[in-house]
Amino acid sequence: MELELKPLGLPSDFERPIVIAGPCSAETEEQVMTTATQLAEKGCHMFRAGVWKPRTKPGGFEGNGEIALPWLKRVKEETGMLVATEVATPQHVELALKYGIDILWIGARTTANPFAVQALADSMKGIETPVFVKNPVNPDLELWIGALERVNGAGVKRLAAIHRGFSSYDKKIYRNLPMWQIPIELHRRIPELPIICDPSHIGGRRDLIAPLCQQAMDLGMDGLIVESHCTPEKAWSDANQQVTPDILDYILSILVIRDQVQTTENITALRKQIDEVDNQLIDLLAKRMRISREIGQYKKEHGMTIVQASRYSEILEKRGAQGSLLGINSDCIKSIFEHIHQESVNQQIEIINK
Ligand code: PEP
Ligand code: MN
Repeated sequence: MELELKPLGLPSDFERPIVIAGPCSAETEEQVMTTATQLAEKGCHMFRAGVWKPRTKPGGFEGNGEIALPWLKRVKEETGMLVATEVATPQHVELALKYGIDILWIGARTTANPFAVQALADSMKGIETPVFVKNPVNPDLELWIGALERVNGAGVKRLAAIHRGFSSYDKKIYRNLPMWQIPIELHRRIPELPIICDPSHIGGRRDLIAPLCQQAMDLGMDGLIVESHCTPEKAWSDANQQVTPDILDYILSILVIRDQVQTTENITALRKQIDEVDNQLIDLLAKRMRISREIGQYKKEHGMTIVQASRYSEILEKRGAQGSLLGINSDCIKSIFEHIHQESVNQQIEIINK
């Protein structure tokens, strides 16, 4: 389904990056007003704060709910900033709109549930309020696009996507793996959809915010949504990934913003080279498959099994090591060879069944 989009209609439509900042949660009226005033002084135009908080386990701070909405209204009146909050149920949507929230976002856990997204979309019929859809917690681009389609199908045309990383059992540096190829593919599929990066939820750590912001800009993303709190270490949720408005201002001031459109001669020539190398890679793969089929024929004639486990492990290990000698991540090489091996096996199965 093609999305029918229109510009977000935000004051920063023509600026890059669009910046939305504010605390993970609206904790108290004082915390909201102090943070908002400091952000506004730094020139921030859009304020975020969670009013309903999806927590992994019960017992954590689940947000103040409706009583926090007038605080956001006050932010708007006193600082002139636009205000944004997360909605997860039709009732949240109704209340947020009632209190004049300017931007709604759908959280990562909600995006992962098509029933919940459909119910939200139905409650948003035809609204002009921009809606930002975070990626689902699991790395599933189709599910993300599906959620955007559901909301757009309800007539919401001011849409953007938020890239907040993907949850993984294997947590190393990041709280949520960035898996940049997914937002990049989203951009390829829906080029006119703005994509905003959420370095706080990707990194899970204050010190990762600056490099993640830079990486998002280098990849041509349109905006940043960053958690910022007047006293981050005392935050009631996500304390490790928030920065003061001062630090955020510094992080933004050192960002290098490169042009999104790179159509210089140099890059055209380099892209030509990439096309040539890709053609060679495909020719070589076809050659490898021809050899595999011959091996399949041999295995058939000699009654051998197709997958010879020791040979397979040897290939993965050797290729991984070769790759890392040449500066390519050995896990990346291994996963490429897993796919190549799978296709060889499929081709050999065809030969054996002939
Ligand atoms: C948030 O923005 O505070 C939040 C809960 O984010 P996510 O849905 O990305 O986890
Ligand atoms: Mn948060």
